[in-house]
Amino acid sequence: MRSVIPYVSQQSEQEASDWIDRLSRSMPDEQIVDFKELSIEQARQADIAIIANPDPADVAKLPNLKWVQSVWAGVERVLTDLGNRPFEIARLVDPELARTMAEAVLAWTLYLHRDMPAYADQQRRKAWNELPYRKPGDRTIGILGLGKLGSLSADVLLSQGFKVCGWSRRPKDLKNVEVYSGQDGLIKVVEKADILVCLLPLTPDTMGLLNAEMLSKTPSGAGLINFGRGPVVVTEDLLRLLEAGSLKHAVLDVFEHEPLPKESSLWNHPAITVLPHISAPTDQESAAKIVADNIHRYRATGELPETVDKVRGY
Ligand code: NAP
Repeated sequence: MRSVIPYVSQQSEQEASDWIDRLSRSMPDEQIVDFKELSIEQARQADIAIIANPDPADVAKLPNLKWVQSVWAGVERVLTDLGNRPFEIARLVDPELARTMAEAVLAWTLYLHRDMPAYADQQRRKAWNELPYRKPGDRTIGILGLGKLGSLSADVLLSQGFKVCGWSRRPKDLKNVEVYSGQDGLIKVVEKADILVCLLPLTPDTMGLLNAEMLSKTPSGAGLINFGRGPVVVTEDLLRLLEAGSLKHAVLDVFEHEPLPKESSLWNHPAITVLPHISAPTDQESAAKIVADNIHRYRATGELPETVDKVRGY
């Protein structure tokens, strides 16, 4: 008999129940049960769990897990909490999430490219002043992280006529994108980027990567978009470079502490646009289908979806 699949999260009752409903509709052959309602026997038998930033103490009560499926794309917290457990961890890899992120990258790249922060400021000052126009082909967008989200974002930017270069850990071949890797490669991308887009995961290697030394290598007046994870950017260093004018504007969707504390100086900074972690929200419907496919494949063939590399950290 099939084991039930626990849903383990620290979400509100309503949020957890919405997810369980949606997941159950996507896989009617499976029984998805809120961890809180699991019997001791069901907990003992479970070989798969679906997780949304769970309390690690709850997951520890599932002793026979072979793998867990997270419904989020980022894994730094799951790895910190569960990385030393013997089961494998699959994160959400969803083409709809990549599409949404690529849309956000395009939207906020155009925001900087078409000087929207400066025109909004001019309107507040009732200043009628035309700023110089640059064509997309005269603007290079540097994307740090060319994974599922970064590579589709590169395609979308190319389709709008921007020049695109990017950085990944391993060299890769992306049509019309200059791809670099390694520390020298990072410097090359940063030096070229009129707009630098960060879509890196948070790992020991990427924490604090965008510090004063690195950010000061951008062309003068460059823009920064951070849609990856907050601690990849050193906030104090970013503030200094914005004050100095060597960076013109930063669009930040991710922060070291979320929600961004009310007392943070970032809220009122004229050269910073604060977004509440909305660049690519998980789409429950498509996520539930992806999770269902992964579970069906595992039940039919024993094959696991792509899992997180616990050493690499993503
Ligand atoms: P992914 O497919 O795992 O891609 C990660 C990319 O980063 C890969 O290209 C990888 O290189 C590169 N990378 C990682 N460590 C590196 C290093 N030390 N040096 C150089 N390159 C490095 O991840 P994804 O699905 O694109 O997602 C990226 C991140 O976006 C997530 O981890 C999450 O933090 C963030 N995210 C944010 C939101 C939001 O709403 N703001 C939503 C979803 C996700 P290789 O290609 O060589 O492996």
